Amino acid sequence: MIKVITLRNSSGASLDVINLGAAITALRVPDRFGEFQDIVLGYDEPTSYLRNPDYFGVVVGRFANRIANGRFRLNEADYQLARNEGAQHLHGGASGFHQRLWSIAPLNGAPVENNVRLTYLSKDGEENYPGNLAVSVSYCFTEENELIIDYSATTDKHTIINLTQHTYFNLAGHDSGNILDHEIRIDAKRFTPVGRDQIPTGEIQDVRNSPLDLQAFQRIGDVVDQPHKQLGYCGGLDHNYVLKEQFDPDMRVAAEVREPRSGRVMQVITDQPGVQLYTGNFIGDGTIGKNGASYNRRQGLCLETQHFPDAPNHSHFPSVELLPGEAFNSRTIYQFSTD
Ligand code: BGC
Repeated sequence: MIKVITLRNSSGASLDVINLGAAITALRVPDRFGEFQDIVLGYDEPTSYLRNPDYFGVVVGRFANRIANGRFRLNEADYQLARNEGAQHLHGGASGFHQRLWSIAPLNGAPVENNVRLTYLSKDGEENYPGNLAVSVSYCFTEENELIIDYSATTDKHTIINLTQHTYFNLAGHDSGNILDHEIRIDAKRFTPVGRDQIPTGEIQDVRNSPLDLQAFQRIGDVVDQPHKQLGYCGGLDHNYVLKEQFDPDMRVAAEVREPRSGRVMQVITDQPGVQLYTGNFIGDGTIGKNGASYNRRQGLCLETQHFPDAPNHSHFPSVELLPGEAFNSRTIYQFSTD
């Protein structure tokens, strides 16, 4: 059964989560005048998430982002995954974690009202990935309007893993039009360029002297349609920024977004080596969302903290392998405030 869980703090801010796809379906935080608005795209009906072509709100797995031709080699075995986006594998395949019913798990320690933990057991061979993978995602919504997401996983066979959260944010409100006036800063000097098929070429390129340089705040509308090969391939910004070239567990600020009218500010803090900025280039005009809102192209942006796309096929990218006896642990914080 699909269940809705609401996490609140004493200021009145709140977050709705459903166990289908471990999706975030609403997030209500104040603007600079104290007005609350729901700032994430989504559907009214939990069952609508069963068909969710834009991946609104969901946790993506077992491997977020793309794998070239759906193929990878591990331990001298070749694996063929679903090619569910042209020739490529995208976001875990035909039926990834975003379409699975997760269990609502008891918390470790005393239950707290602002916390929920969801678990999912992905069976050996599901979507052709090796190993029984036991996954847990917990959401904690603090008094400081921080959404803390903790991911963990274990496996019984050598496998690969790349989990992310695919919420689309629109800091002016989910139904307020496009995100072109949002200003963004990404603390990354490099990114992984892609080809026409949106598969990384394997290079790690400097962002300088290109519209992908977001080291200082830029208005999204000023950069996203500039004539540039990388933007052309993706219909706008849809790129993995390199936060770290080697994995280490330290948390760091990856990105900051501010919206001038509402004054809302979002900081993204993570231990992950990459963050995919996706400016909603493929949202179909007229997509019906919450409260009958009509969503259009670029109505929301995603900041998907993760490992690099197609990492299983690039040995110089931080490793996405997980071995039996090891634990995968990762944390991302989305922090909301006003200017
Ligand atoms: C990808 C986009 C893709 C979208 C699907 C994003 O994570 O980067 O290329 O179209 O997910 O909603």
